[in-house]
Amino acid sequence: MLVSEEGDEVLYTYVDTEYAPEKCSLCNGTGLSEGGICEACGGQGNVLVAQPAIICPLCNGSGNLETGTCRACGGSGWALF
Ligand SMILES: [Zn+2]
Ligand SMILES: [Zn+2]
Repeated sequence: MLVSEEGDEVLYTYVDTEYAPEKCSLCNGTGLSEGGICEACGGQGNVLVAQPAIICPLCNGSGNLETGTCRACGGSGWALF
């Protein structure tokens, strides 16, 4: 993964799709979950999402289902593909 060190430039471009960091729903941007580091964002507090960002239709952006962490988005709350 290419990550800019600039801080200002937060857009990532692969082919024709732009990606931007969106707040992780599973940890609410903290990077931490109950068990430690958030598994959805790896502790970053945000995840790279293809733009325009689409909220995960399976969990409605919550990152959680009654059965546990949403498998479709990995808990991030965003449609990653
Ligand atoms: Zn997270
Ligand atoms: Zn989901």
